[in-house]
Amino acid sequence: MKEVILIRFSEIHLKGGNKKYFLKLLYNNVKHALKPYECVIENIQNRLLVRDFEDADEIIQAVKCVFGVHSISKAIEMDNDVELIKDYVSKIKLQGSFKCDVNRADKSFPIKSNDFNADLGEIILNNNEKAFVDIHEPKTVVHVDIRETGKTYIFYEIVYAYSGLPLGENRDGLLLLSGGIDSPVAGFCMAKRGLRQDFLHFDSFPYTSPQAKDKVITLAKTIKKFVGAKFMYVCSMTKLQEEFHVNCSTEYAINLLRRSMIRVANAICDKFKYKTIITGESLGQVASQTIESLTTTNSVAKYPVLRPLISFNKEEIIKIAKDIGTFETSILPYEDCCTVFLPKNPIIKPTIQEAEREESKVDLENLIEYVLNNLEVIKLD
Ligand code: ATP
Ligand code: MG
Repeated sequence: MKEVILIRFSEIHLKGGNKKYFLKLLYNNVKHALKPYECVIENIQNRLLVRDFEDADEIIQAVKCVFGVHSISKAIEMDNDVELIKDYVSKIKLQGSFKCDVNRADKSFPIKSNDFNADLGEIILNNNEKAFVDIHEPKTVVHVDIRETGKTYIFYEIVYAYSGLPLGENRDGLLLLSGGIDSPVAGFCMAKRGLRQDFLHFDSFPYTSPQAKDKVITLAKTIKKFVGAKFMYVCSMTKLQEEFHVNCSTEYAINLLRRSMIRVANAICDKFKYKTIITGESLGQVASQTIESLTTTNSVAKYPVLRPLISFNKEEIIKIAKDIGTFETSILPYEDCCTVFLPKNPIIKPTIQEAEREESKVDLENLIEYVLNNLEVIKLD
């Protein structure tokens, strides 16, 4: 008998012919998440299994961050042997309501699930004075998972992970990561659908402080385990913003800045082979996130711009931010480049034509090139 950790998958079983590919991705991602810990990972039928570990809770917490994992349980492993299972169950100590939940995946096991539930329940009742059966709302569920592999797993707790799809092999996404609450959550949401990402951050030094940049690095390191990031690109928008400020209509300042962010992102995607840009925009949140504003930013994008939070309310975003551990960092009060030269009345319904007219007042091509020439690449380790 051995203590093991059982890992169940989410939608991978729906993948038909691609199931093998997704399983391999999941296996590799779990292996990567468990790299710091000594343990052995096995691929058993429809489950992954971790054995020979030291601290089960550490393993469970690490595996919980891997997308494609549905749930995790610490379990006792034994052979599919009626007497062995009964013997183990006779030693279980519990109080209050309980039920047994037998899953007989091994159809050659001689006792049917319902009958075995009754047998095991009786054994528990006989050995625990203060235990009673409640099949509807039991305090304890004794799960008995009898697998086709010839092994049975007994466990009490199921820790739910985030499900979704395993991160792909390539870092296809470029997340525009600010110091705010929204963008780390946007990265998390896209990673949940298997999109591996790196980060692009814009600062406006010296208008923004080194602490503002450090804050974003902290956020990047916090979500790295979810999104599989290796790099953060940092670009200074200072010169560009100063030029817009001096030459262009102030009400278009944010709009011009957003279009420039997308242009820089386009160039980074070209150079480093990202396939899509992700932002934390949410419809109507601020002036730069109206349909008209999004249309003017979209019109300069060469790659699909994914906005997973587009329909989210702020409270929904905050709930996820707290859960993934970014909220406390995001609310530290450092300024962002979007708040530098912030117009009093930003345009709510900009047009592409007007944005282009404003842009023609500066040497945009050169300014974007200047930004790209001063690109900083931070390796996240
Ligand atoms: P919050 O709204 O929580 O203050 P935010 O990051 O969403 O933070 P917004 O002004 O709403 O800030 O920006 C919308 C989106 O634009 C962000 O989610 C992010 O994807 C992108 N963005 C804004 N500022 C930056 C920046 N300095 N660097 C990189 N991306 C940015
Ligand atoms: Mg926002």
